[in-house]
Amino acid sequence: MKKILFWAVAVMVITALMPLAMLLKYGKYQKPLPEDEETVSVYVKEEDKVIEMNKTQYLKEVVSAEMPASFEMEALKAQAVAARSYLVSRQNAYKISGTPENHKGADICTDPTHCKAWISEEKRRESWGNDADKNWDKISRAVEETKGEVITYNGEVISAVFHSTSSGRTESSKDVWGGDRPYLVSVESYGDTLSPKYKSEKEISLKEFEKIAKENIEGVDFSKGIVGDIARSEAGGILTVEIGGVAVKGTVFRKIYDLRSTNVEITVDKDRVRFDVTGFGHGVGMSQYGANYLASQGKDYKEILKTYYTGVEIEKEE
Ligand SMILES: [Zn+2]
Repeated sequence: MKKILFWAVAVMVITALMPLAMLLKYGKYQKPLPEDEETVSVYVKEEDKVIEMNKTQYLKEVVSAEMPASFEMEALKAQAVAARSYLVSRQNAYKISGTPENHKGADICTDPTHCKAWISEEKRRESWGNDADKNWDKISRAVEETKGEVITYNGEVISAVFHSTSSGRTESSKDVWGGDRPYLVSVESYGDTLSPKYKSEKEISLKEFEKIAKENIEGVDFSKGIVGDIARSEAGGILTVEIGGVAVKGTVFRKIYDLRSTNVEITVDKDRVRFDVTGFGHGVGMSQYGANYLASQGKDYKEILKTYYTGVEIEKEE
């Protein structure tokens, strides 16, 4: 009899402590849903460590880092599905190839130039101030209402890359990175002209221009001219540009002169060099400002995703 009483009390105590254990583990109690139970290993670059995160929470934090909360709900949902697809495609790829050196064994990292931007909920809430609850609820809805949904091409989850603002046409992955991906081809993107990041300009002295070139490009010789032939993609991005007689890739050119995109007009005027830049980012896949424009025109997130990723389907993960 005593034994039964002991077990009855033990079960009651354990049951009572369960929510507390969940609270301690996750910070707040979350309803256990399939995606909510999954974890993702994230290499947090800023802290130089790998953290196991709840998948849903990680996706909310990515969306909050990648898109302003003021964007249309359908654009946020498109962003949520793109971020989930990108994550899943990385996980699938690393299962075969192993994780890259700079990931320290994690599925994904927080370096936006390598994977996706990320910010903790706590830090994001701080930056939002009084709008924190309202904004977080909106981002949460975008992730929860598209739960488990991924973008597929021929049944495979795609590497759903995205960028801030295109030039009015997106770039193909082939032109930017060389990999031929049939779902990442150049498409028309409307509304990018409304983005505050559509146009930017930068001016440096010719001396500085030459100095940067000499430091970064082998064999430059300015007696052969300053800026020569430029080859462009269908979307207008620089594929190669001749600098001091050497053909340089557009992506390298963008990086060394720290420009917002490869879509650049270069003007050499006496001792100055001016860069007139269109768009922001690598230009491949979904344009975030373009997505917001389409949403404002009544398109839903599936239509937005199908606009930017060619020949794809939106499916629920098994
Ligand atoms: Zn990464």
